[in-house]
Amino acid sequence: MTALQQALTVGKVICVGRNYAAHARELGNDVPKSPLLFMKPASCVTYLNQHEVGTIHLPDADKFGDTHYEAELCIQLSGDLKNATAAEAKAAIGGVTLGLDLTLRELQSQLKDKGQPWERAKCFDGACVLGDWVEPQVFGDFTDVHYQLFINDEKVQDGDSSLMLFPVLELLVEISHAFSLQAGDVIMTGTPSGVGKLACGDKLVLVLNEYSWHACVQ
Ligand code: ZN
Repeated sequence: MTALQQALTVGKVICVGRNYAAHARELGNDVPKSPLLFMKPASCVTYLNQHEVGTIHLPDADKFGDTHYEAELCIQLSGDLKNATAAEAKAAIGGVTLGLDLTLRELQSQLKDKGQPWERAKCFDGACVLGDWVEPQVFGDFTDVHYQLFINDEKVQDGDSSLMLFPVLELLVEISHAFSLQAGDVIMTGTPSGVGKLACGDKLVLVLNEYSWHACVQ
């Protein structure tokens, strides 16, 4: 595996909610029958590079409440998809990385209670943290990908794509039947259980095989 030299500009970021049963349960949600989708705009994306310690800036907790981390396997498309087959979906995957779907959890709960959209809790500047992209080939059909999030040297999330309710290729097919996907679009494939609050000074490490991304929270 090598890092991709050239990554595409991010278009839209499509996020999948409740794609791991254990995470759905930890937030008191039912397991969905079809993928729960929402989006983040490109304006909230920030990047981590493998060879430096990045910075994660939290929104003001006094004003917005706690920010939670959600570590997720992320895919970037190098081609367009509309009403795609699984083979077409696989061929359109241009890069793979790990990311953090940062969430203002208290605000999200309030919005959910009112039946309102989640953008205020999911789209603030810096709410989508992405590692730099790596070659997708070694991941095959993405049914056996393992990844971890460590905070202050403690493993807090352990991702195993075989536990996804909607596996990666199935997700891409499903999304492409709902709306068009374009080269550059990113799919955050959902978080495993173990989500929690970030605090200033936390040191995060995301690990995907031999790749790792480091960040400090400010
Ligand atoms: Zn998420």
